[in-house]
Amino acid sequence: MLLRRLEAYGFKSFADKTEIEFGNGITAIVGPNGSGKSNISDAIRWVLGEQSVRNLRSTKMEDVIFSGSLGRRPLGAAEVSVIFDNSDGTLSLDFSEVIITRRVFRSGDSEYFINKAACRLKDIYELLADTGLGRDAMTVIGQNKVDEVLNSKPEERRLLFEESAGISKYKQRKKDAMRK
Ligand code: ATP
Ligand code: MG
Repeated sequence: MLLRRLEAYGFKSFADKTEIEFGNGITAIVGPNGSGKSNISDAIRWVLGEQSVRNLRSTKMEDVIFSGSLGRRPLGAAEVSVIFDNSDGTLSLDFSEVIITRRVFRSGDSEYFINKAACRLKDIYELLADTGLGRDAMTVIGQNKVDEVLNSKPEERRLLFEESAGISKYKQRKKDAMRK
């Protein structure tokens, strides 16, 4: 599976619709301090379902919405989509291209979409669980993450191993089943 494209609109510093194409191989994003490099990885994290505002370097979810700048009014919503090439079938959907979209409004309402069809956050978690992109995966390693992993409690660290070993999907299903 390959990340092909990222589209962001109203997310953090991306007031205009911003599209980034990822080619084969390694992509490096360079730019001056404060130009929005980390906001790109925040956008990827966010669209994949990140719920922790701390992991998004914010204090409240509303902070991900463009808050205005000199001569530019704040926006009312943020939207990010990631487009995966799923021709190898990593994501268990019968589509060679999978688009995951998340939208949030200042009211706090969130919307999620898989291939443009509205879905629940849970559906996104399920789709991504055990693909290496799941909730506790290490796909996005932030500047402080290495220290955090080394300093984490054994129970917290265990989640990383469970996600890597591909069993978190079954744990979630068991939890859901026990609740019914
Ligand atoms: P560094 O090289 O220092 O790591 P960077 O390129 O990673 O910098 P980011 O942290 O991605 O920079 O971007 C920070 C910029 O994003 C700041 O100028 C900040 O004002 C802007 N920003 C963050 N959230 C918002 C928001 N909600 N609305 C508008 N601008 C925002
Ligand atoms: Mg940065």
